[in-house]
Amino acid sequence: MSYFGKMEESLSELDSEIGSLIANELGRQRTHIELIASENFVPRAIMEAMGSVLTNKYAEGYPHKKYYGGCEFVERIEEIAIERAKKLFGADHANVQPHSGSTANQAVYFSVMKPGDTMLAMRLDHGGHLSHGHPINFTGIMYKIVQYGVNRETEMIDYDEVARLAHEDPPRVIVAGASAYPRKIDFARFRAIADEVGAILVTDMAHIAGLVAAGVHENPMPYSHFVTSTTHKTLRGPRGAFVLCTERYAKDLDRTVFPGVQGGPLLPALAAKATCFKLAMEPDFKEYCEQILKNAAAMSKALADRGFRIVSGGTDNHLMLVDLRPKEITGKAAEALLGEAGITANKNAIPFDPEKPMITSGVRLGVAAVTTRGMKEEQMTIIADAIDEVLSSPDDANLRKAVRGRMAELSSEYPLYESLT
Ligand code: PLP
Repeated sequence: MSYFGKMEESLSELDSEIGSLIANELGRQRTHIELIASENFVPRAIMEAMGSVLTNKYAEGYPHKKYYGGCEFVERIEEIAIERAKKLFGADHANVQPHSGSTANQAVYFSVMKPGDTMLAMRLDHGGHLSHGHPINFTGIMYKIVQYGVNRETEMIDYDEVARLAHEDPPRVIVAGASAYPRKIDFARFRAIADEVGAILVTDMAHIAGLVAAGVHENPMPYSHFVTSTTHKTLRGPRGAFVLCTERYAKDLDRTVFPGVQGGPLLPALAAKATCFKLAMEPDFKEYCEQILKNAAAMSKALADRGFRIVSGGTDNHLMLVDLRPKEITGKAAEALLGEAGITANKNAIPFDPEKPMITSGVRLGVAAVTTRGMKEEQMTIIADAIDEVLSSPDDANLRKAVRGRMAELSSEYPLYESLT
């Protein structure tokens, strides 16, 4: 071998410490019930693209306007990704280079806002995202933030409040979209409010992008000036993001992504995004998303039947927010107890939560990942039962051990990545 460097050894040969931690993570994913609403399991093909030689290439710029030589194949990949994204979501323009959802949002804000401009977006503790104006996020530092939330009674977005706030202090940008909101979003209403006050409507569909692609949630694109999204949640693609916009903003957006906030695109992710868009156009992806909705409804009902309070009374999408107060347990404790029992979830503030953000009164549960494994409504009830058992007896460590065994057994009936070792 004439390489200068250890070019042909595998990871486990070269760095067994990291290799075995990745193997452990595969084991964890196989044996645990994954209910984190922002996670999913990607197809092998996506991982193949992510682990490809594309990692060796630089491709600053856009197709046919690259700043590097040797881009003939990667720019074709980028063109395909752009075309598929536009087709999938009915957009005039797509930029598929953003490394993450936060960067996608940053690029949009930088395209149309100046420091000090006003942004109207959803409160983090009512379901919004950090990049929608949290005080310690760049958005909270750079812009004047006005926040809307949900109605105390219905726990659904208070559109009258959105309108009132928009008229009181007309924002440059209104952000629709959330990280922990279980209900359909009325994009037409958001657009009407934006038009009334001359604001730009940015919809962040990160969580629901797969449902939108499958046509089981309304598409925000016809109503929005910009749509941002991650690719790794319900869309079941690689860790990454993209932005869609109307023709009018296309040039500004592209300039802001590169060279505005990023250098070269992460080409492995870019290729994997192209494949993820292709898969999302196929009929079985629609079936998958329909099953997500059925599974979420089944789990939400099963938990309600077992005495939990489901925020807003149910769910229209892949996730639900569970108010744990009827069980007299905090979100922090529930996350830890469920973890011990082989169920992975995250604590989450519920609207008007009396607890601190690091404690919370709720957990957020999502079913996109378990649905990918092939689980159906019956398994959602089994999991809800397990959640109820564990959280109803927080002092019973033996019970958690038994549930952990049962969850591993259930998982083994839905094998994951069988061809991986
Ligand atoms: N936007 C929303 C609505 C999200 O839920 C998230 C992540 O959870 C993001 C943006 C940020 O994505 P990333 O973690 O890729 O920066």
